[in-house]
Amino acid sequence: MQEILEKKIFDVDEIRKDFPILETLSNGRPLIYFDNAATSQKPNSVINALSDYYRNYNANIHRGVYSISIKASEAYENAKNKIKEFINASSEREIIFTRGTTEAINLITYSYGLENIHEGDEIIISEMEHHANIVPWQVLCQKKKAVLKVIPVNNNGELVIEEYQNLLSKRTRIVSLCHISNTLGTINPVKEIIKLAKLNNPETAVIIDGAQAIQHMPVDVMELGADFYVFSSHKMYGPMGIGVLYGKAELLEKMPPYQTGGDMISRVSFNGTSYNDIPMKFEAGTPNVEGAVGMKAAIDYIESIGLKNISTAENELLAYASEKLNEIEGLSVIGNAKNKASVISFTVNGLNAFDIGVMLDGSGVAVRTGLHCTEPLMDRFKIAGTVRASFAFYNTKDEIDVFIIALKKAIEILS
Ligand code: PLP
Repeated sequence: MQEILEKKIFDVDEIRKDFPILETLSNGRPLIYFDNAATSQKPNSVINALSDYYRNYNANIHRGVYSISIKASEAYENAKNKIKEFINASSEREIIFTRGTTEAINLITYSYGLENIHEGDEIIISEMEHHANIVPWQVLCQKKKAVLKVIPVNNNGELVIEEYQNLLSKRTRIVSLCHISNTLGTINPVKEIIKLAKLNNPETAVIIDGAQAIQHMPVDVMELGADFYVFSSHKMYGPMGIGVLYGKAELLEKMPPYQTGGDMISRVSFNGTSYNDIPMKFEAGTPNVEGAVGMKAAIDYIESIGLKNISTAENELLAYASEKLNEIEGLSVIGNAKNKASVISFTVNGLNAFDIGVMLDGSGVAVRTGLHCTEPLMDRFKIAGTVRASFAFYNTKDEIDVFIIALKKAIEILS
């Protein structure tokens, strides 16, 4: 019965009707959108929630005594509550809205990092990180004369855990890693990674970049034991320009503000200023209310389908596409981790990824090409870039068939 129910819930033809963009044409062909790791498409419920906000209760929040401002404030707080439940944080106080994953990591480096990192301290990241989880740490290390250490990746695109254990030392202050690699699709054993960091030193702060995980699998921050967990709304069917920094309250309380101005204060005088309590201490200025409303609608949508159904469908697409791609001569999949999300990067002997991408676009197939903001990982695999196809639950095997035909044609023409 449960199986029938799940199958019925997951009728991909019905689900596709929720996403108006999937009915559009690209270069005269039905759009086949395989760039979901860059940003996902938006269902009607999200688009309507944004429109409803602007049509019916657009107002600045937290300071209005009138009805639509109160309604907008409630919507903003309800979104926080939704996110708290979604990731199982212990309180809404631990949920801070940011512009996205990038800003959330910058907030941690500028606030927690500047306060807690000193000369000779060590920060561990990995070879598969997105630039958003590399550059802020490099800048912090330069400022503080700290040392950046990098966990290597094996040929399958998995973290070498023994090397990670060797890198942990009494100077390790921060470990910051992605939950899922945006280029390789590797799902990292973050629970084990966090446990090892805490065993080495319970004071080490562990940051998990969940930009590629939050839309594919259930995330329980308490169960993981992460100190910080960050993600972007636009990769999880929500609007752009908003994301989340989850942080343990005991850490956030001790951290200095990242930006200052309105809303983040408790009292201001020319003799000095006292700050608001968390989370508002970290939300200076008018927040992205529209984004919060849309993000809540996106989580409602995800929950209406079920993350279990989503990951089952995406795993099927991954297996199907991997099998078809592996049959193509001269094509190499970069990233063959045992535990993998629905992201496939590949190269084709002698061909430029960009050229392949342009040819695929001519057939209505949208893929990403290049470095995927993971240039050190490209250096690791000694490649100039990849073609990346990343699937969401609204994609179909029929679309993969069209993609494979178009890819074979592109390879033939370009070779
Ligand atoms: N981290 C990972 C793993 C990503 O895939 C991305 C975006 O592609 C980011 C960080 C940066 O996210 P944003 O651009 O939404 O801040």
